Amino acid sequence: MFDRFARVLFRLPLDRALDYRIAPDMEPEIGSRVQVKLNNREEIGIVCEMTDTAESDRVLDIEAVLDPLPVVTKDQIELADRLADYYICGPGEGLFKMFPSPPVSFQTTSSRNFKIPDIEAAPAPSPRHTLNQEQSAIYQEIKKNHKAGRMHLLHGITGSGKTEVYIHLMRDALLEGRGALLLVPEIALTVQMIQRLQEVFGSAIALLHSGLPAKERFLNYLSVIQKKRRLVVGTRSAIFAPVDALKYIIIDEEHDSSYRENSAPRYDARLLARWIANSRDAMIIAGSATPRLESRRACQTHPELFHYHSISGRAAGSLPQVQVLQAPTNQNPISGQLITEIEKNLKNGQQTILLLNRRGYQPFIYCDNCASTIKCPRCSVTLHFHKPDILLCHYCAYNARNDGTCPQCGGKTKATGTGVQRLEEFLASRFLDARIERVDTDTSKGGKNLQDSLHRFFRKELDILMGTQMIAKGLDAPDVTLVGVLQADQGLMLSDYRAQERTFSLLMQVAGRAGRGQFQGRVIIEALNPEHSVIHMAAAQDYARFYDAELRLRSATNYPPFCRLLRFLIRSPDQEYAEQKIDELAELLESTLASESDALEILGPAPAPIERIHDQYRMHILVKTRSYERIRPALRAMLESFRPGLRKGHLEFEPDPQDVV
Ligand SMILES: [Zn+2]
Ligand SMILES: [Zn+2]
Repeated sequence: MFDRFARVLFRLPLDRALDYRIAPDMEPEIGSRVQVKLNNREEIGIVCEMTDTAESDRVLDIEAVLDPLPVVTKDQIELADRLADYYICGPGEGLFKMFPSPPVSFQTTSSRNFKIPDIEAAPAPSPRHTLNQEQSAIYQEIKKNHKAGRMHLLHGITGSGKTEVYIHLMRDALLEGRGALLLVPEIALTVQMIQRLQEVFGSAIALLHSGLPAKERFLNYLSVIQKKRRLVVGTRSAIFAPVDALKYIIIDEEHDSSYRENSAPRYDARLLARWIANSRDAMIIAGSATPRLESRRACQTHPELFHYHSISGRAAGSLPQVQVLQAPTNQNPISGQLITEIEKNLKNGQQTILLLNRRGYQPFIYCDNCASTIKCPRCSVTLHFHKPDILLCHYCAYNARNDGTCPQCGGKTKATGTGVQRLEEFLASRFLDARIERVDTDTSKGGKNLQDSLHRFFRKELDILMGTQMIAKGLDAPDVTLVGVLQADQGLMLSDYRAQERTFSLLMQVAGRAGRGQFQGRVIIEALNPEHSVIHMAAAQDYARFYDAELRLRSATNYPPFCRLLRFLIRSPDQEYAEQKIDELAELLESTLASESDALEILGPAPAPIERIHDQYRMHILVKTRSYERIRPALRAMLESFRPGLRKGHLEFEPDPQDVV
């Protein structure tokens, strides 16, 4: 009898699969997880191919087949190859991000008929709402223009009724025996949209996000891979869901930075959506009130592929009135005018949202005696004061008790500025009877459930909802008539080329929360520099003007979308080592790209804007190029030869980085 072999991929930076012998009594399938030995260690891998010949003579046996069913499809394995090629990583590293980790019971079951619970017959989907004229025209145009890989950009302010268009398209896909995928930034903030979808589609929808218990999430995933469900709603990683006969990939709030993965390989779900749509005869529907610059521009430069649709009308309510005020320069957290407006709202029984994108009680601790701010001992950033008495680093979570003395000179320290904790305290003392709730990453860590807070707000059990940028997304509460944004321009001080775009987008989003019901909404934006043009354009809700201005700036400074940006970052606990290695890398880059006319510019090497995080010194190089595709093979070869020599540090390579801090 001939031997059979399986090619196995690992969650490791290996550039290819390794061969293992399949025992005669074993029947792994392509896509099954297997247990094997690799360098004398037990590892879990995924079978990506079967073969009759092994590439080497010394081949080990597969020790166990872990799953009775494949956990990934051939399409996903192909996608992993493409991902590895683009992000210059191992195919296994991407593949292992494509499915939720199976619960223990699934791993140990030897039965081949592991079953997912039967799905109740979905009620005949009925959209219930009819589309208005504008929505209907867009819907018809999307239907008429089906072509693989095409993208339709729905540019409409919050509340313009994009969800109803999504629902109609998903229903059509289902009726044709095809499937659809809807991506949202965060499930907890999309409660209402999901309720609406479940009303229409019932249990035909598979939810995929990290907030679900592991078993439920995995079973939902299984129901998709087994073709029992064709509709998926989820966050970033749901882009990998193996939806059968996929017809639409819908990306709501397409500008949201959560579509970018935050550990290597740092894939962008929006880019993957384009690859998937192309290879699987699907189309992309992307919706946003503030589309990314590159998405909006693609509609102008490549109209045959990227279709632009503007939804102007607000399905309910009218546009809010926006006012920009000078932020108080004394110790008051908010201006007198905003206090008056909150009072008015409380008296009228209407709800208020306050956004302050700053965690903790006070953001600065300084010592008068030696004239310094108190920094994190592990990072090159200042510590924040959190109540009751902790100094916390927002980058590495270092914390120490605040005993009021300076670690440098022993002098007395003072805290200054306002974070959300201090704002909450101020509001509570000012509005004694108001029901106030704060949401930020600290309150959700403290066990308070974000979803619960939001539900209570929707049920009108709260008067004021306040917090960090979490509250700017997706929230649709009709009785909110006042939105206040504090320290609106703080994001503009970051040294990052996307800082303006992010600030504009955040302000537009949060302003869109006001006045969605029958009452007129008011928005008050407080800024240290109220004259800043980005603040003004956001206040005027003028995307077109912002788009033109920002595009001119990017063109003049040669930043995306006018070039491709590539980032190489070396981090090491040894500063000299990091500096020496980044210099070596810079030289290599120079010589690698010397013959490439498409390599426009090499910036650096230089310390990253945040030079040290968690005791790691960070040095980086940015490359601006016209075509990443053309220089990628050379870069891959260069990185493969460089990486093994990097013994005391790490190299992070990132094409199209989300930020460069
Ligand atoms: Zn001091
Ligand atoms: Zn730190």
